[in-house]
Amino acid sequence: MKPVANISQIPFVDGQVYFIPLGGSGEIGMNLNVYQCNGEFLLVDVGITFGDDSTPPGIDVICPDISVLRSVRDQIRAIVITHAHEDHVGALHYLWSQLKAPVYCTAFTASVARRKLGEAGLLGQVPLHEVAPGSRIQLGCFDVEWVTLTHSIPEPNALVIRVAGRIVFHTGDWKLDPHPIEGDDYDDKRLLALGDSGIEFVVGDSTNANIEGWSGSEAECRQALLEVIVKQPNRVAVTCFSSNTARLSSLGDIARETGRRVTVLGRSLFNYLQTAKATGYLKNFPDLVPTEDLDYLPRSEQLILATGSQGEPRAAMARLAKGEHQDLLLEPEDTVVFSSKVIPGNEKKLYRLYDLLSQKNVRVVTENDAAIHVSGHPCRDELRWMYRALRPRYVIPVHGEERHMSAHADLVTDEGLGAARVTNGDVLELNISEPSLIGRVHTGRLGLSGSSLVPLSDRSLSERRALADGGLMTLTIVLDNKTRLVTEPQVQFIGVPSGDIDPESLNRDLSHATEEILLEMSSRTLQSDDSLRATLQRELGALVRQWLGVKPKQLVNLVRI
Ligand SMILES: [Zn+2]
Ligand SMILES: [Zn+2]
Repeated sequence: MKPVANISQIPFVDGQVYFIPLGGSGEIGMNLNVYQCNGEFLLVDVGITFGDDSTPPGIDVICPDISVLRSVRDQIRAIVITHAHEDHVGALHYLWSQLKAPVYCTAFTASVARRKLGEAGLLGQVPLHEVAPGSRIQLGCFDVEWVTLTHSIPEPNALVIRVAGRIVFHTGDWKLDPHPIEGDDYDDKRLLALGDSGIEFVVGDSTNANIEGWSGSEAECRQALLEVIVKQPNRVAVTCFSSNTARLSSLGDIARETGRRVTVLGRSLFNYLQTAKATGYLKNFPDLVPTEDLDYLPRSEQLILATGSQGEPRAAMARLAKGEHQDLLLEPEDTVVFSSKVIPGNEKKLYRLYDLLSQKNVRVVTENDAAIHVSGHPCRDELRWMYRALRPRYVIPVHGEERHMSAHADLVTDEGLGAARVTNGDVLELNISEPSLIGRVHTGRLGLSGSSLVPLSDRSLSERRALADGGLMTLTIVLDNKTRLVTEPQVQFIGVPSGDIDPESLNRDLSHATEEILLEMSSRTLQSDDSLRATLQRELGALVRQWLGVKPKQLVNLVRI
């Protein structure tokens, strides 16, 4: 099915309900889901994903392309954010100007969103409505109920969306944690009651659908962290996801229990600590020791919390490992604890950090050494529990790569329920007798370059990658009105090693070669800027390849006087 560029071209039928993922289905991150009914739209989550080795250089943040919604902007009744993780709220301040719809979320998420909107200068413009957990609100034709589950951040909400006689349970990110440390336990009675009320569709998290068992509890993780930290004779530095308030709470308690004081390094940890305290979490978190007072505190009494659990080069942990942190130098026999998982794609960065730390004789503890991290997403037994409680007719796996969604669909089928597969851009009619794909809309990825969002397929970004891969050769030639050279052609390389060849003689030889190529050119080619550039690029490119074995990007500056 060919995707359409404008969602108005989809033959929506009044009285039917449609589900359209624009991000997060078939990939990890960048969640953005759309529901449509009777000409009205409801958006659930507006997230980002992060650049990796496969994205063009300099693109760290990626947003979903929502251009397909342009023509229906006035019909978007609300943007609901399920929780405050970057893959759910991170693109709000980048994309809101294209949506201009009111935003609904619970207090912790609102606090995170407010900080982002404030940094983008949008705070006064965005109608941001705080919703109490458990609320039920009419948003256009969509009746939306918030159901708080457990995850790895405060206030992870599922949504019960009732519209046109349909009942959809949109899980958001969740797990079943009986001891989540911060925030409430999940309400199993409410989930069972919802099952009794007749849930028809579940749109659900697939992240761990290929992992058997249960994801484990934050309480077990706290115990494992305590067992690791209590044994350490000297300074301990722990890194974890800054938004994991439960983990921070555990570390605060462990500091107290092991006679240590807490110091925090890294802006995002400060931001999340502040947000959590302002919204009623981390009530017993100890007072922090400022970095300037660390010298007065014995190493054995220090517990450092540092940002950068994924080896982010500018974060505190990477700077500590390199010995470049302005406020603290790790010393031999200190311990660094990575209370986090390695997100695929970050392995190299992290292994390098482990090596740097080991060189300094700093002990490194990761989740391979002790159970010091638990995932925030449901493993297969949790999925089974949920589907046995809700007993939906159909489950639509989202939030995962194809292999996760496919494992999720298989589990659903084994449970005797219907599975409806979607990927970004599919328009699925939530038909109770059989969900059906009725069309496809354009989707894509926009990279943040400075302050602009650019399609990753944009020529400027493929040029950037070509420059990063092969460097640049520039050639400047000045021709008079008889197409004769006025000065010697100027050749310059950027980012191209010349190997054994002296760079100046290389430039000189290429300049002479240019003169010869021009002499042999037909007057017709010489008269045409395009043909002249193309001929020079082809012939000089071949020479450079022959001499240096590389093929840099070429730029021919042609001046005619
Ligand atoms: Zn997520
Ligand atoms: Zn999440």
